Amino acid sequence: MRLLQNSHLFVLSLVGLLLVGCIYFGYTSAWFRYAGSRSGVADRLSYKQPSILNGRKDVITVTPWLAPVVWEGTFHTTLIDAIYKMQNITVATTVFALGKYVQFLKDFLESAEKHYMQGYRVHYYIFTDQPEAVPTVTLGASRSLTTLKIPSSNRWQEITLHRMERLEKLIETQLTNEVDYIFSLDVDTKFYGHWGVETLGDIVAVIHPGYYSTPRDDFPYERRSESQAYIPYGKGDFYYGGAVIGGRVEKVHKLAKTCRMQLDVDKANSIEAAWQEESHLNKYFLYNKPTKILSPEYLWQDTKYITPDIKIIRFSQVIKNYAKVRPNP
Ligand code: UDP
Ligand code: MN
Repeated sequence: MRLLQNSHLFVLSLVGLLLVGCIYFGYTSAWFRYAGSRSGVADRLSYKQPSILNGRKDVITVTPWLAPVVWEGTFHTTLIDAIYKMQNITVATTVFALGKYVQFLKDFLESAEKHYMQGYRVHYYIFTDQPEAVPTVTLGASRSLTTLKIPSSNRWQEITLHRMERLEKLIETQLTNEVDYIFSLDVDTKFYGHWGVETLGDIVAVIHPGYYSTPRDDFPYERRSESQAYIPYGKGDFYYGGAVIGGRVEKVHKLAKTCRMQLDVDKANSIEAAWQEESHLNKYFLYNKPTKILSPEYLWQDTKYITPDIKIIRFSQVIKNYAKVRPNP
């Protein structure tokens, strides 16, 4: 009887031990699986070892305030994709197509569907006075388009000036808490090469292709001190293009709101900055430095001679007949 009790106890403790073992093993393997998925990028991918010594020598890849400048050869697409894919992001993309500029929409959208943020959720917002003229372009999976009707103007300057206000209001009414990033892009453009998540950052500016080797005193900044866009000689980092503005929605909202308010002050004082909203954008970026800068690969001009530092053209302003497409000279 006593022997039987002992062997019972022995079996019971064996079963107990086994149970504890199973639970422990199950827990640890689950933990490893979890940890593996958290650190997943480096584990699953094989990519070339980054070098701390060798990089692009012909261009700067970081600004004096330590913002990266994105050039071909400074990022690894597969690696950067693996990081952003885990974040399940949405990128809103606004374009204005008023008056004759609706003709640019087809090429813009079709080329964006080939090269722009491929594999990510993109929501286009098209501001136009002619919703019926928005072409039907087949969009990829997780990509959508909303047309927003707004009145046009008989002055092109007015059209570009109002983009900041429209951007500000769109973010306030529809985008906050809905999307992560936003890009506002010119429509008289075309994508020719990869434009992906390497372009994302808190607040993103693009170097204007016309002025990337120009001394700062020759930048076409607004030089009249009466304008809110005024930048004195001897100041300024780069000349940024107004055709590309991007970043986290809340940061772009702050930019658009600030520029809109400055534009309002100028209007009340009957002064229009040299390059309208682009002048105000340059003023904003002088005092609120962009956290990421896109090289001229991300804003070229079809007419422009390609220099050896430009290894790829990703996005470019198409040739347009100003007299034919703009409502006024
Ligand atoms: N735009 C428009 N209709 C016009 C003029 C301008 O829709 O009649 C919009 C359009 O999105 C365009 C942007 O404003 O891409 C900037 O104007 P534009 O391209 O003429 O300026 P540029 O790039 O030549 O400085
Ligand atoms: Mn343009």
